Amino acid sequence: MTYTVKLRGSSSAPIAADYMCETCGPFETIVARPAPDEIPCDQCAAPATWLPCAPRIKHPLFVSCHRGKADEKPYPEACDTEPLADGMPLHEWKKRRAEMWNAHDYAEFKRNT
Ligand SMILES: [Zn+2]
Repeated sequence: MTYTVKLRGSSSAPIAADYMCETCGPFETIVARPAPDEIPCDQCAAPATWLPCAPRIKHPLFVSCHRGKADEKPYPEACDTEPLADGMPLHEWKKRRAEMWNAHDYAEFKRNT
């Protein structure tokens, strides 16, 4: 299989970049790509230097994780993907599910005969 990399938008489109002015502090502005190392400050026109930094997350995600056991299965045959999350290959998991259902059906058959 081959992949084709497609660039979205123009590679020369302006970008937002952060700069630091010695007097006014950090500010964000739109500049041509690649971001110049130095531009005049928005407010005082003194040279401001580019601040290389990771993109800021404007709306942080608040996710909490809790250690502990999973909820009890509502019934014994309930689909449980926990082994998959723990690294079991899908074919192995499917095989176990099939075995479980075979045993389930056999037990039901034995009960009804
Ligand atoms: Zn300034």
